[in-house]
Amino acid sequence: MSYLSINNIEVIYDHVILVLKGVSLQVPQGKIVALLGANGAGKSTTLKSISNLLRAERGDVTKGSVEFKGERIDQKTPAELVKKGVIQVMEGRHCFGHLSIEENLLTGAYTRSQSRAELRESLDKVYAYFPRLKTRRTSQAGYTSGGEQQMCAIGRALMAKPEMILLDEPSMGLAPQIVEEIFEIVKDLNSKENVSFLLAEQNTMVALRYADFGYILENGRVVMEGEAEDLRTNEDVKEFYLGLS
Ligand code: ATP
Repeated sequence: MSYLSINNIEVIYDHVILVLKGVSLQVPQGKIVALLGANGAGKSTTLKSISNLLRAERGDVTKGSVEFKGERIDQKTPAELVKKGVIQVMEGRHCFGHLSIEENLLTGAYTRSQSRAELRESLDKVYAYFPRLKTRRTSQAGYTSGGEQQMCAIGRALMAKPEMILLDEPSMGLAPQIVEEIFEIVKDLNSKENVSFLLAEQNTMVALRYADFGYILENGRVVMEGEAEDLRTNEDVKEFYLGLS
């Protein structure tokens, strides 16, 4: 049985714009899978079709299915999915700028009823993975750096005890050193907490260093897939996506 499985998904925006043209992909339990491709290839749309966040953008899944642990999840609301352990961390981070870092983290726990002691434990766990968030816990999120806001968004997802995180462009707009710091934490969460990741990234080079497996999307179709190591050394990938030839 596959863990997360997307089967032949088609997505149309505004009833006319066909954006995903039959995308299929699998995320095995405990793995990091990278979803790669240029700007506009359909990476975010794929993640939103899993987390059911398309409706707000006038998008519809018109074909295909999504299964998590053998159960159809494509009709579940985002809140139901969070309870099942499937959580999306949106592109652009979406922290509440006027709330402190700690208040932001606490909002992540609201769909999972947790006692005060459990909340404390969850916060301590987030701070153990993200020591920067601990030092900034009383700072207003809107005044923290881009890297800290990205960490806050992942930390907030962690508060809901996820099994599967859909992570959209974590490297966007961040300095290379911060990107590495974030990917190291993703790897740690994967190996120590057994969180699986589907990671949408334009930064092919970095993503393939941390992922186990990769899919490359072009114009709403998967055009290549393989073990991360094989993709990294594939001549076509190097030429088109890594800018090396
Ligand atoms: P990016 O890195 O820029 O987010 P992406 O690979 O994640 O790229 P998507 O955001 O999924 O790509 O967009 C895929 C295509 O769908 C693009 O052509 C985009 O213009 C279009 N699109 C995305 N959202 C909408 C929307 N709400 N209405 C209409 N078209 C949309």
